[in-house]
Amino acid sequence: MSRMSSTASAPPAGRYAPSPSGDLHLGNLRTALLAWLFARGSGRRFVLRVDDLDRVRPGAEERQLADLAAIGLDWDGPVTRQSDRLDHYAAAVDKLTSAGLTYECFCTRREIQQAATAPHGPLGGAYPGTCRELTPAERAQRRAAGKPAALRLRSARTEFEIIDRLHGRYRGPIDDLVLRRGDGIPAYNLTVVVDDAEQGVDQVVRGDDLLPSTPRQAYLATLLDLPIPEYAHVPLVLNTEGKRLAKRDGAVTLSDRLARGETVDRVVGLLAGSLGLAGRGAEELLAGFDTDRLPREPWVLDPDRLVVVGRCP
Ligand code: GLU
Repeated sequence: MSRMSSTASAPPAGRYAPSPSGDLHLGNLRTALLAWLFARGSGRRFVLRVDDLDRVRPGAEERQLADLAAIGLDWDGPVTRQSDRLDHYAAAVDKLTSAGLTYECFCTRREIQQAATAPHGPLGGAYPGTCRELTPAERAQRRAAGKPAALRLRSARTEFEIIDRLHGRYRGPIDDLVLRRGDGIPAYNLTVVVDDAEQGVDQVVRGDDLLPSTPRQAYLATLLDLPIPEYAHVPLVLNTEGKRLAKRDGAVTLSDRLARGETVDRVVGLLAGSLGLAGRGAEELLAGFDTDRLPREPWVLDPDRLVVVGRCP
């Protein structure tokens, strides 16, 4: 079994890993700022990775990077792109396969949904294991029928516990998660684990919508003999209806705000204010940054009332 390349020698790092599906909104920028503050505030490197295996919109990456730089974030080394790292994910899948920890799954999305929501079916949308014990003949039959197979993890656990800086101990379900989709694209839960480990990322700061996926990722890291990073899942920004902020909520991107006559300093000041910090640029915010004093509640934002004339947020 080949050992995966590791960057044990790389100094530890934090990271931000946007998906280039569109412009970053204020919630994304706030999470990026927090990831940067956590990393820089603890003397870590900060790396930027573009999760571009899915949902890519032309031009979005360039605009995202420009906005991150505009709010004062800097990063170490070149930006990495998942599309350049397919061989690393394939090596991880091979490693799991050689250890007998994968199987082909021929289920359609619909079949999985139906099984997961059946009255006596498994709860929580977990994969019910339909293809786990197919015989070689059954597998060959499905392959011959031309059904594209996804590759799943043969999990030995149904739960795994992680520790999060903001949420404490968090236990979540593990199912036979997809490692490689039917179209051959490696799945996010695998790529994130491989990338973080190989980039020396030992601190993962991201939105708390990803907390439920984290036990799966940490478990996968153990199976790949990779270290489990420290996690901090930070509160999301919500709209006035209590839903996750989205582009349709109005003027929520940096360019929207600039088009309204606001300055970058003003926008950074707004993000900082939402974190209980004050300062003109990202560097100045570092001085007052204390992870123990971060707000634990989501920040509710009304894009139409961001500007309070004559007052700092
Ligand atoms: N690319 C993912 C997203 O934008 C985040 C991945 C991560 O932080 O682990 O939702």
